[in-house]
Amino acid sequence: MGSPPPHALADAALRTTRILSSKLYFDVPPSKAPVVYSPSYNIAFLGIEKLHPFDSSKWGRICQFLIAEGVLPMNRLVEPLSASKDDLLVVHSESYLESLKSSLRVAMIVEVPPVGMLPNCLVQKKVLQPFLKQVGGTILAAKLAKERGWAINVGGGFHHCCSNKGGGFCVYADISLCIHFAFVRLNISRVMIIDLDAHQGNGHEMDFARDERVYILDMFNPEIYPQDYEARRYIDQKVEVPSGTRTNTYLSKLDEALEVASRSYAPELLVYNAGTDILDGDPLGRLKINPDGIASRDEKVFKYARDRNIPIVMLTSGGYMKSSARVIADSIINLSKKHLIEMVTPSSRG
Ligand SMILES: [Zn+2]
Repeated sequence: MGSPPPHALADAALRTTRILSSKLYFDVPPSKAPVVYSPSYNIAFLGIEKLHPFDSSKWGRICQFLIAEGVLPMNRLVEPLSASKDDLLVVHSESYLESLKSSLRVAMIVEVPPVGMLPNCLVQKKVLQPFLKQVGGTILAAKLAKERGWAINVGGGFHHCCSNKGGGFCVYADISLCIHFAFVRLNISRVMIIDLDAHQGNGHEMDFARDERVYILDMFNPEIYPQDYEARRYIDQKVEVPSGTRTNTYLSKLDEALEVASRSYAPELLVYNAGTDILDGDPLGRLKINPDGIASRDEKVFKYARDRNIPIVMLTSGGYMKSSARVIADSIINLSKKHLIEMVTPSSRG
C-alpha cells in the first residue's frame, strides 16, 4: 500500500508550481539590510498573551534595541509578506490547516488554554496572523542570505511543527517551508540545519527524515519537551546537553560539533535556529548559559558559515524571558562589531 510513484511525482510537481507562483520571494533593494521584521510579528491580545510564560513582544523589542543602539536604522529593516494558504500547502496537509479552524486545537498548540474559548475569527487574526508574517519572513530570509551572504529573521524558528502536526508553541513549519522554497527558487540541493534552541527540533526532523538534501545538527536538552524518539533517529549529528550544563562545557561541545559538521557535509545554505532558551534561568530550557555565552555561540556559528562562504539564515526561535530580547540584540551587535555581518552595504553608505 502507500502512495504509488506517479502520485508522488504529481505531489512534487504541485509543490513546485506553488513555490514558483508564490509572492513571498520579492526583490529587496540594496539600501535595506538583510534583517527581516514586521511590527505585526508581535502577539498582544487582551492580556491573554500574559498567560503564557513568555515575552510575546520579544521580536519588536529586539529591533527597538538595535535601532536605539544605532546599529540598524528602522528604514533598513525588510518587511515580509504573510504566507498564504497556497504557500503553507507547500509543506502542510490540507487537513492540518483545516484543523486550525478549531480554536481549541490552536490553544493546545500554542499552550494558552484560554485561546480555546475565543471565536476562531479572533484566533485567526490575533494569534495565527503574526505567525504567518513570521513564516513569510523566514522564507524571504533564505533568498536574502543567498544574495548577501547572511540574513536574520527577527522571528521564526518554529521547529516543533511538521507537515501534519503542531506543538510547543509552533503552528507552522517555517524551517521546512524555507528549505523547500530554497530548493526550487535558489536552485540548491544541500542544506544544513544547526538547531541550538534548548529543545529538540522534532518538526524539521520529521519533515526531512531520510532526505539526504538536509543535514541536521541538533544540540538540545534531552530531559525536556518534546522527547520525540522517532524524530531523534533523523538527526545527523545529535549533541545532548543535559539540564544544568554551563557555558564553558556548552561552547566546547559546540566547537567539537561544528568541527564534525564541517568534515561531514558541505551545504549551500545554513539555517541556524538560534533559540535563547538555553539562557541561565529559563524555566523551560533548564541550561545555565550566560549572555556572553549566547554571543560566543552565535559568533561561532556565523564564523563557521562566513569562513566557508555558506549563506546563513538566523532565526530567533524559543526563549521568551524578559531578558531574551536584550541578549539577542547584544549578540547581533557583537556579530556586527566582529565584522561577521555588515548592516550597511557599501553602495548604501552615506
Ligand atoms: Zn525551545
